[in-house]
Amino acid sequence: MHELSVLNPATEEPVATVTAATPHDVDTAVVAATAAQRRWAALPPGDRARQLRRLAAVIDDHLEELALLEVREAGHPIANARWEAGNARDLFDYAAGGVERLTGRQIPVAGGIDVTFHEPLGVVAVIAPWNFPLPIAAWGAAPALAAGNAVILKPAETTPLTALKLAELALAAGLPEGLFQVLPGTGPVAGGALVEHPGVAKVVFTGSTAVGKQIMARCADTMKRVTLELGGKSPNIVFADADLEQAAEAAPGSFLDNTGQDCCARTRILVQRTVFDRFLELLEPAVKDYRVGDPADPATRMGPLISAAQRERVRSYVAESAPVAIRGDAPAGKGFWYPATVLVPDRPDDPVAVEEVFGPVAVVLPFEDEADAVRLANATRYGLAGSLWTRDLGRALRMSRAVAAGNLSVNSHSSVRYWTPFGGFRESGLGRELGPDALTAFTETKNVFISTEESK
Ligand code: NAD
Repeated sequence: MHELSVLNPATEEPVATVTAATPHDVDTAVVAATAAQRRWAALPPGDRARQLRRLAAVIDDHLEELALLEVREAGHPIANARWEAGNARDLFDYAAGGVERLTGRQIPVAGGIDVTFHEPLGVVAVIAPWNFPLPIAAWGAAPALAAGNAVILKPAETTPLTALKLAELALAAGLPEGLFQVLPGTGPVAGGALVEHPGVAKVVFTGSTAVGKQIMARCADTMKRVTLELGGKSPNIVFADADLEQAAEAAPGSFLDNTGQDCCARTRILVQRTVFDRFLELLEPAVKDYRVGDPADPATRMGPLISAAQRERVRSYVAESAPVAIRGDAPAGKGFWYPATVLVPDRPDDPVAVEEVFGPVAVVLPFEDEADAVRLANATRYGLAGSLWTRDLGRALRMSRAVAAGNLSVNSHSSVRYWTPFGGFRESGLGRELGPDALTAFTETKNVFISTEESK
């Protein structure tokens, strides 16, 4: 029997061990989910909505417990962890409001009426990463359940505890057995078994682009539907006409939040050449003031990286000779700490400038004009997010249309909202999550024609 060890990333102390699911466990879970889904989909919409609202209320009652678990297993600062637990609650609440609004259409035709229905898919597998274990579990599970599906959630190896707690809360809220199951396990074994299982209709995968590509290819065998939320290398574009003080003050949060382990992290700071030096001067104190330390302290803004392996990966991008412009502090001793690091590479195609580091590391690169900014912003294989800083409204709109990314913000680093759509262009993903259409991604559209001809 394989065990997963959960470590506290801030102290390296063991937190828990959890049994990893086998392919046999996946088979058993799919059988139970299939039976539960049929009964769930047959319930009146109002009943399903009420049960999901009850789950949101139960999550709310356990907010602090969930947040503390997230601190222990993922090393997130407690203020962030509380937001994340609240986000999971809001997701179920929002999805519950969609159950009775999941309406089809009536399309004019000759000789009868034509209507569409949004039929649930069946059993949905949600494969989640470790960087935002609780919100991402809820992003997939809440709309899938609301649309009448059953969900099997496989959390990441390092962060299964909040997901297991969520399953417990779902039962406590009265959701039927088998409808929402959590199977901790390894990616290749439990994740692989879900991806290949003929009883699973859709895979919602959030994780690395490399694994996302493999999953998409393997889903083709059983024609599973997929939503992929993958990596990013997002630009933060600062024009000379921007409020530079505000742009510099906001920049650290956009790549240091969650210790840079954020698919939307704005890790490529592109600054118009005429204000490049001034921007760096303003950025330095903002990075150094970003408070790093004990995740349990409410004043902490940045905690450790998730694991020793992740720290090695981050280090591999910052050689001894790297052109470091700004470096923050990090606690010494136990824990997977890494300081905030800002680099000014000579070449815009340096690996650290185009590959996803997934740590507190950003590059600052100069650009000449709008066309150059667009060219640099789009010079990666990703297209998840980005920010633009300018006082020129026309430029803000032109740039918003020209940058190839699914989620942009102007004069801010607006975070992800559960009621607006989220997803990536290019190799950052496929499909959209959240927002008003979240439920329809978990349905098939069925078209029905009913003849009104008189029978002879
Ligand atoms: P990962 O791809 O290694 O793992 C993600 C999940 O997939 C884990 O649960 C893992 O166990 C599972 N998995 C791994 N191999 C598998 C396989 N062969 N078959 C099935 N499942 C498998 O990613 P990670 O290191 O956990 O997460 C970091 C990555 O996630 C980053 O690249 C980040 O950008 C991305 N991410 C994207 C978004 C988004 O919304 N676009 C959000 C968060 C994280």
